[in-house]
Amino acid sequence: MKITAIIAAAGNSRRMGKDKLLLKVGADAVIVSAVRPFLEIADVQQIIISIKAKQSDAIRDELSASGIDTTKICFAVGGETRSESVYIAFASVPSDTDLVLVHDGARPYVSASLIRRIIDHAQAVGAAVPVVAPADAILVNESPFNRKYVKLVQTPQAFDYKKLLGAYMLFAGTQKFYTVPDDFTLWCSAYGEFPQALVDGDPANIKITTPSDLPNLYGSGYDVHRFCEGDHIYLGGVRIPFDHGVVAHSDGDVLLHAVMDALLSSAGLPDIGFQFPNTDEAYRGISSTVLLEKTLAMLAEHGVSLRQVTATIIAEAPKIAPLVKTIRDSLATLCGLPPCRVGITATTNEKVGEIGKGEAIAVYASVTVRSI
Ligand code: MG
Repeated sequence: MKITAIIAAAGNSRRMGKDKLLLKVGADAVIVSAVRPFLEIADVQQIIISIKAKQSDAIRDELSASGIDTTKICFAVGGETRSESVYIAFASVPSDTDLVLVHDGARPYVSASLIRRIIDHAQAVGAAVPVVAPADAILVNESPFNRKYVKLVQTPQAFDYKKLLGAYMLFAGTQKFYTVPDDFTLWCSAYGEFPQALVDGDPANIKITTPSDLPNLYGSGYDVHRFCEGDHIYLGGVRIPFDHGVVAHSDGDVLLHAVMDALLSSAGLPDIGFQFPNTDEAYRGISSTVLLEKTLAMLAEHGVSLRQVTATIIAEAPKIAPLVKTIRDSLATLCGLPPCRVGITATTNEKVGEIGKGEAIAVYASVTVRSI
């Protein structure tokens, strides 16, 4: 069985407001996640990704950077509509292909097991289309409609290659060709309704369309500073009078340092030791609020926005509890978040270790971000 997969990824991302294929949905970008499971299927001999010419370099770079084997992958320049893009991609399909799979590049949660199920079913009956039941109530022309009669259609869809090509050739250039939402619609227009093709889809296999479809991503950070002679420390940008200072190259704001590392880790970027080395005189005595500002700018450049920050401060002294609200409000302002999205907790180290002896202060921080 010779199988070619076409990944339709030449859309305009209109409802996202920016190119959704390169947004992160976990460790990988949308397009990488949408392609990767197809590489796990040995029968898939070639993957043709249909992309806009202007996206070509960025998508190639993203695939290479993700470490996936690109030897089976080739590219086709997409057209103005989805069907035009798929039709153009047909020119790159090897002529001895038995089965062609067509998948939306914006469905990053497709699993190898769903692809396998689609292939097996198409081998048996000639076509396979994953469908799921709607969870919401349905209105048709504003009137209630029994949702048991409604199915939501996903991809990948699989077809006998020559028959799908025949359907495309039949309608190429017609109004229907430019307006069909998917390949099954075109197939049914050519060959009639074919309910035998329907297979249980996967509710998780959603199409990333608007910013609300993007998942939360996470990052964590830790920092510790030893106390030294001095009369104040900084926590979350707040100057706190204390009978010690902290040993540091910058102002030693242990809370902001942990938050910065959490932010950098959420975007897969190197840590603050790399970004702001303590051998660089430019950072001597610098306010960590400036470093946080630079870190947030770095994240924005990578298309990552902060949703929530939480941190746990661990110290025997100073007493943090009376300062929590002030520190939280300050951190919220610095992060551009409402205070309700910032959580600060504090604990002692129960006299255990150097922190417990009051010789140091540490912070664990975690952040929730979105890739936009
Ligand atoms: Mg530090």
